[in-house]
Amino acid sequence: MSYSRRLFFALSLPDALQQQVIRWRAVSFHPDDGRPVVAANLHLTLAFLGEVSAQKELALKMQAGRIIQTGFDISLDDLGHWPRPGVVWLGTKRAPRALLQLAQLLRSQAARSGCYQSPLPFHPHVTLLRAATKPVAIPPATPGWLFNACHFSLYQSVFEHGRTRYHELEQWQLGQQDNP
Ligand code: ATP
Ligand code: MG
Repeated sequence: MSYSRRLFFALSLPDALQQQVIRWRAVSFHPDDGRPVVAANLHLTLAFLGEVSAQKELALKMQAGRIIQTGFDISLDDLGHWPRPGVVWLGTKRAPRALLQLAQLLRSQAARSGCYQSPLPFHPHVTLLRAATKPVAIPPATPGWLFNACHFSLYQSVFEHGRTRYHELEQWQLGQQDNP
């Protein structure tokens, strides 16, 4: 095994939510605002790993499998625009503690395995539009979808035939959610 692959840990959006998001996006933004991310690629990145060797991939998978963390609900009630990277995003005003803990664990495991981690604080978000470098009229509110995270996944990012696809390599369940 001598290959290396471009990997990241992320939460996937349930199919029904992906469809709701793209329907809402189509009526909430102008076609010139940016390039819409295809429904199947809507996700929330927990930790970006970059190009990873097969050996390191195995170690990262084993470490991910040891994580004990309960599931959580995320309210997608925030929207924003980062003009420099050209990203319009959907996020949350109140990130659940369990989400922050999960991302923090995955990021520190990644850093210990030698995967460069950005010093910027973790800002959980789902990218809606790319190449959005001009001013964008951001809608005042989102429909406020609630999304339940009951697992997290390792993805491979593949760029081929002019587009990026993500392949889910492995999935880990999160623990039973506490009743509020
Ligand atoms: P493309 O770059 O091909 O347009 P993409 O950004 O979706 O598409 P990747 O660059 O492979 O695909 O990124 C996969 C995920 O990791 C995305 O959520 C992306 O925002 C995130 N990501 C990519 N590079 C970094 C980085 N240097 N730091 C943090 N997150 C990153
Ligand atoms: Mg990218």
